[in-house]
Amino acid sequence: MNPLIPLGPSLAAACAGLIAYGAVHPRSQLFGPTLCRTNFPRKLAITFDDGPNPALTPKLLDLLDKHNARATFFLIGKYVRECPDVVRETVARGHLIANHTDTHPNLFWLSPGAIRAELQRCHDAIGAIVGSPPKWFRPPYGFRNPWVVKTAAELSMRTVMWTLLPGDWKPRPLESLIASLQPIALNAEQNLSNPKATGDVLCLHDGGHRVLNADRTNTFKALEHWLPRWRDAGLEFVTIEEAVRTAAA
Ligand SMILES: [Zn+2]
Repeated sequence: MNPLIPLGPSLAAACAGLIAYGAVHPRSQLFGPTLCRTNFPRKLAITFDDGPNPALTPKLLDLLDKHNARATFFLIGKYVRECPDVVRETVARGHLIANHTDTHPNLFWLSPGAIRAELQRCHDAIGAIVGSPPKWFRPPYGFRNPWVVKTAAELSMRTVMWTLLPGDWKPRPLESLIASLQPIALNAEQNLSNPKATGDVLCLHDGGHRVLNADRTNTFKALEHWLPRWRDAGLEFVTIEEAVRTAAA
């Protein structure tokens, strides 16, 4: 009897575990380098996925303006073509526009050619409206495989993940969403005096990938609650580009 045979299933399970980690863990670098943190504890990068959303994004832009906040919007290409005015307005208010694929598939299961097509179509849709292609990309659901980050890099985009994903798309009481954003303030309290600390990248959703005009009222209300408090805690709200402009001390 081959003594290695019993190792087969456990080795396969270990490999499967490693692949799962590389594919979904936000800070895994297994399938290529990704940006997960800002360079300075004072800089909070608030990011929004799955827009543009005519039902929320314009209101959200007003709220961000009120608090002098700049953010990064990872857009779905098919919505960009449907709502070009919302995209133009987002850029005009000083926010950063980024690529979140054309139709929001799980890229883990797609071939290199299909991944390229998804990224390229969104790239082109944004470029046609903004005048220049996006430099930042986030994979839907955070799923990567060996080709995703590489394909984004070939299109001159860096891949962005997050430090906090509070699950604002889930139906739940507002109080629960507000509570799940508490780590941002706690991290600020602990890290602001440490020059070697990094800052958070927060992943929220102003849209919904299944339908345009998704209800994201709770996301809006949670930010209404937290933005002034985060400001009082000493945080600045910056785009991903600004978050990495200066090297960490
Ligand atoms: Zn998404």
